[in-house]
Amino acid sequence: MSNDIYCEIVSLAKRRGFFYQAYELYGGRRGFMTLGPLGVLLKENIIREWRRIFIERHENIFEIESPIINPGIVFKASGHVEKFVEPLLECSSCGRKYRADKYLEEKYRLKNVEGLTPEEIWKIIKEKNIKCECGGEFKFPRMFSLLFETRIGPYETGELDYLRPEAAQGMFIDFKNLVTYARNQIPFGVAQIGKVARNEISPRKGLIRLREFTIMEIELFFDPEDPNCEYLPEVEDVELPLLTADKQLDESYEIQWVTVKKALEKSLIKTDWQAYFMALALEFLKELGIQEEKQRFREQLPNELAHYSAQTYDQQVELSRWGWVEISGHAYRTDYDLKRHSKYSGESLTFKKQLEKPIEVESVEITPDMKVIGPMLRDKTQKFIEHLKSLPVEELKKLLNKEFIEYEGHEIPSSAIKFKIVKKKVNYKEFVPHVAEPSFGLERILYATLECAYRKKNGRTILSLPVKIAPIKVAVFPLVKRDGLPEKARKIYNLLRKHGIKCIYNDKYSIGKLYAEADEIGIPYSVTIDYETLKNDTVTVRDRDTWEQIRMPIALLPSYLKKRLARNE
Ligand code: AMP
Repeated sequence: MSNDIYCEIVSLAKRRGFFYQAYELYGGRRGFMTLGPLGVLLKENIIREWRRIFIERHENIFEIESPIINPGIVFKASGHVEKFVEPLLECSSCGRKYRADKYLEEKYRLKNVEGLTPEEIWKIIKEKNIKCECGGEFKFPRMFSLLFETRIGPYETGELDYLRPEAAQGMFIDFKNLVTYARNQIPFGVAQIGKVARNEISPRKGLIRLREFTIMEIELFFDPEDPNCEYLPEVEDVELPLLTADKQLDESYEIQWVTVKKALEKSLIKTDWQAYFMALALEFLKELGIQEEKQRFREQLPNELAHYSAQTYDQQVELSRWGWVEISGHAYRTDYDLKRHSKYSGESLTFKKQLEKPIEVESVEITPDMKVIGPMLRDKTQKFIEHLKSLPVEELKKLLNKEFIEYEGHEIPSSAIKFKIVKKKVNYKEFVPHVAEPSFGLERILYATLECAYRKKNGRTILSLPVKIAPIKVAVFPLVKRDGLPEKARKIYNLLRKHGIKCIYNDKYSIGKLYAEADEIGIPYSVTIDYETLKNDTVTVRDRDTWEQIRMPIALLPSYLKKRLARNE
């Protein structure tokens, strides 16, 4: 595929209402796109397919919807305020700003530059004499927060609040409610589909890098001592196209096709659930028409890993202009987030698993010396004590055996906390669950489906979208716009609509042009009403991909189309 495919799709998308630049009236703003009427229908169909594969197949995965605007504490606790930053390069001459790692990667073809510190970037800039596109010198790089700041309510002072950059935190902070909903059974998963915002430094590439986009995410909570995924046998033999971190570090970029079973046996993937979701992700994109050969799972290198992840595989799709682009991320978030929220909220975010036989467990009873701690922590004292009480026993023991306990910038002497270890019998096991997370960017998927569906036949464009995600399923046309044909065609259009078939009626152009338009927006079937229809109540049905036409009685049309559409569900 040539580079021009991207331009052709962007032009088609705008002309036909799939997607286009937002705020065009005011000159447009980078990183914001609007989905047009067909884009919205396509998006809904992609979401339906995602829900079918990732949620509905599972007894223990359910969906929630949490707010987009979050109090600052949520992203302080999650580590985003501190760590969700990118290095920014600013030209001292023209003032242009770039995301440093991307600039070095794309302009200078440098590898492994993600995750470098400003000092390391500066060293490269000096050594390689790297300049701005205008020829100007760069200033020393600084870290830039990708969080969109806001303030809740009419208060101009105090803490900043944020728009969420991921949906995941909504699931972590609701953990207690969700455990109750899951009827105290683990493993369980919580899904969320919704908008997120990231103040990307230099968003380009249309739908690929946006400042506001839709995420589809699952947080799957499991017991780290019993990490089995009950659904794994269904995908064990699925071959995954892997590009491991080890291979990349050896400068080898060849994809290895490894079954899910082997990948787990060889510890190429760290947890069952992660591997299971990767197999589903492969299937999901295939269902959307993105062939296996265009997909791979690239393991992130240690320097690229997000602060919460022990291992991440990016599911990438090979696109004509951009090469391998990440479409979904599969992260093993361990117990990082629950522990952080437990620390910041003072609430215990553990899971109590019922056991058949009681076991003896240790607990730690603490008696803090308020005379020492009170003056140090003031209004944070109570929260600190609650935090200590919420910690798992082993962790608390380790902490109390140190000389100082670090808490929100304070060093509290552990001698100020007397403790006693008590043994008791309980019929549950208490632990902080671990989390596997698949996270999909919807707009990138939407673009990739369009590119993979894009074909040319005899100089005409066909969008061969899989029938199940085609925004409109059937087009109804009169052969000519006279002699009662439009009236008859409208009747058939209404008949199909009543049968719940998503269809359109069009009589604006000649029949050739109507077919061409239907092909270009990916309508799988076109129904034409001609003079014979008036004589014997039959119509022709034309297939978008083969251009073959068959004739059939109107009486059979709804069931014929419904059967065809259902076959592709
Ligand atoms: P991440 O949390 O960074 O792994 O992102 C999850 C998914 O969101 C990625 O796999 C992408 O598909 C998508 N994504 C991330 N950043 C952007 C962006 N700036 N614009 C559009 N989609 C994005």
